[in-house]
Amino acid sequence: MSTARPLLMIPGPIEVSPEVRDACGGAPPGHLAPGVIEAFGGSLERMRQVWLADASSQPFIVGGGGTVAMEMAAANLVAPGDRALVVVTGYFSDRMAEMLRRAGANVTRVDAAVGATPCLDEVRAAICGVKLLFATHVDTSTGVRVDAEALARLASENGVLSVFDGVCATAAERFDMKGWSADVYLTASQKAIGLPAGLALMVVSARAMEKRRSLPHAPPMYLDWLEWLPVMQAYEARRPAYFSTPPTNLILGLDIGLRQILAHGIEARFELHRRCAAAMRGAWRAMGLSLVPVSEALAAHTLSAIRFPDGVDASLVAEIGKRGVVVAGGLHPAIRSEYFRVGHMGYAATRTEMLRTTIGAIGGALLDRGRKFDLALVLDAAQETLERSVVGSD
Ligand SMILES: *Cc1c(COP(=O)(O)O)cnc(C)c1O
Repeated sequence: MSTARPLLMIPGPIEVSPEVRDACGGAPPGHLAPGVIEAFGGSLERMRQVWLADASSQPFIVGGGGTVAMEMAAANLVAPGDRALVVVTGYFSDRMAEMLRRAGANVTRVDAAVGATPCLDEVRAAICGVKLLFATHVDTSTGVRVDAEALARLASENGVLSVFDGVCATAAERFDMKGWSADVYLTASQKAIGLPAGLALMVVSARAMEKRRSLPHAPPMYLDWLEWLPVMQAYEARRPAYFSTPPTNLILGLDIGLRQILAHGIEARFELHRRCAAAMRGAWRAMGLSLVPVSEALAAHTLSAIRFPDGVDASLVAEIGKRGVVVAGGLHPAIRSEYFRVGHMGYAATRTEMLRTTIGAIGGALLDRGRKFDLALVLDAAQETLERSVVGSD
């Protein structure tokens, strides 16, 4: 690992594996190049495996980011006046609610205190007459994970389409699209998928595709699933097709990234993130820090949202940066200056030395501010947990 470059431990973009970087880093191939066709088709197939989706579902790979994927879900699923229910857990669910409103939905929000999630009964009480339910699997602004399984099942039992923003979760937090009958699970390349930014990725159920076909109007062309469908079908059949030029370097990287995620099996990947998060949370606790999520059960496995302890302010983020590790400041408007965020997903979750370096930089910055703990002990405890758990580390 180069010491000249800081370690990027924010909740996306993240550190990428050397293999992904190499795959993305070559001279740009054409979108009709045989290698791109194979990587594109293979990636669509592997997305179903990572999403635990069935053969009737439709994966999409589109140039853009998480926000484009969210926009596509709103544009393809909302008929004017449709009632949409948004489970609000932070900054990104707020964004989703506004997108749905602009798409013509009649939006009902179910809110919760910062760091909490609305309880399922409140969502159940609001679901009558609703056409679409939206939730953020992991809200990157609070580090809170919703119970996606319960929400997806509730939606499906009530004949409601469910959409989950998995941008800070997909491929790291367990999500069983088929088992839970979820309708759209969307993400972007730069989070737990482990690529540079630039791809919007989503898998769409047959029911959701039906809803798009029944819309009384066509969405903006770039967002329209039906414009992209023939392109996805062609690539999956290993034929090239064109609607808008895909970021070809990223397609080559995606194929490698998804293969790496699936190398030990997707369930092992989820478990890796669970254990990695346990080790990181153990370290925060041992340093006397507390989390934004109000309970351990709600804390995401992909990032930690950590409150500044007494006597420490947001300048800590820059201090950590001086120690060679980039972490993120607060994002949720209500508590922006009260906490910081550390990503621990994707490639970094497989690299004990990156996680140790991160704990070391945060611990060192806190000791400089007069906090009291034994950093060597904190690191030893984290190391022990990680050595027991990290798959593929060497
Ligand atoms: C990062 C993120 C987004 C936005 O993705 P962009 O690629 O920045 O547009 C949306 N939702 C969640 C949960 C995110 O973490």
